[in-house]
Amino acid sequence: PGRHRNLVPKASPTERPAPPRNNTPRTFPEPPVVLVDRKKGYRFTRGGILGEGGFARCYEAFDSKGEQFAVKVIAKASLTTSKQRAKLVAEIRIHQMLSHPNIVGFKHCFEDDDFVYMILELCENKTFVEMLRKRRRLTEPEVCHYMWQLLDAVREVHRRGVIHRDLKLGNLFLTRDMQLKLGDFGLAAMIKHDGERKKTICGTPNYIAPEVLFDTQTGHSFEVDIWSLGVVMYTLLIGKPPFQTKDVKAIYKKIRDNSYDFPPQIAISRSAKDIITALLQSRPERRPSVDDIMQHEYFTGQPVIKSIPISALTVIPDFL
Ligand code: ADP
Repeated sequence: PGRHRNLVPKASPTERPAPPRNNTPRTFPEPPVVLVDRKKGYRFTRGGILGEGGFARCYEAFDSKGEQFAVKVIAKASLTTSKQRAKLVAEIRIHQMLSHPNIVGFKHCFEDDDFVYMILELCENKTFVEMLRKRRRLTEPEVCHYMWQLLDAVREVHRRGVIHRDLKLGNLFLTRDMQLKLGDFGLAAMIKHDGERKKTICGTPNYIAPEVLFDTQTGHSFEVDIWSLGVVMYTLLIGKPPFQTKDVKAIYKKIRDNSYDFPPQIAISRSAKDIITALLQSRPERRPSVDDIMQHEYFTGQPVIKSIPISALTVIPDFL
């Protein structure tokens, strides 16, 4: 006992630099089958693997009543620097304070000697990456429906003074009943006072806003999420990200030059193009706020879809 430092206790959120990618240890140590929070007396039974990320592995988990969750497990041994530990503490603190129907629910968090466990709402239908792989692209009513859910989530995140900084299809989860849930606050940052700017270069190449890459002196703020929303919406409608090319350097050049277009063979509405163009403006101060976007006729003028059938994971839903 006491081999590793306690991580769950409160500490102030810190700046969060880009995480080293692909650094998952080849052998992720096997967490126990029964996860016990000794302080609170909770017990969870661990199930099969759901997925793997930078530092974490996600498993299914069940509480004593048989309710299903996802548990994100971080091996303490993989957190070798104080920076890495601070980043995890910040992720937990930020995710913990967010509660919204379109944000992955953060239920509980505890640790033992070797692991930190985050008990999360289970998203059984994976992410929009898998959905788009099957569907290639989504129809406009679906995009309108899901962008509305995403905007609602991002509005809440921004209201709480948090920038997500990694909005992308892989962080947009789908529940059993096909609701969108924004997750993964591993790169999120708190803005503690008006006008505060963040300077850390982070994000995912295809989704990264130009000021993160090129205005490193001035820094960036909430507008980086607005840019990424533009990339998400474009990708959902067109089937590939707007600045996609073979290598990362070329992607960054396209982002710098704001070089993207709407392929003429894919029919999308004028108002969808209008929103994407507004979101993907190079000058961050020209981008609309989440509230502004939600008032666009694209959302106010379309019939509201109540729910999307599970079949939409693989084929165009027939309500259309
Ligand atoms: P990353 O490190 O890639 O940002 P995470 O460590 O948060 O991602 O999660 C790794 C993988 O686990 C995800 O890609 C996803 O497949 C799965 N996963 C994460 N959270 C959940 C969840 N709440 N429900 C279902 N699967 C999840």
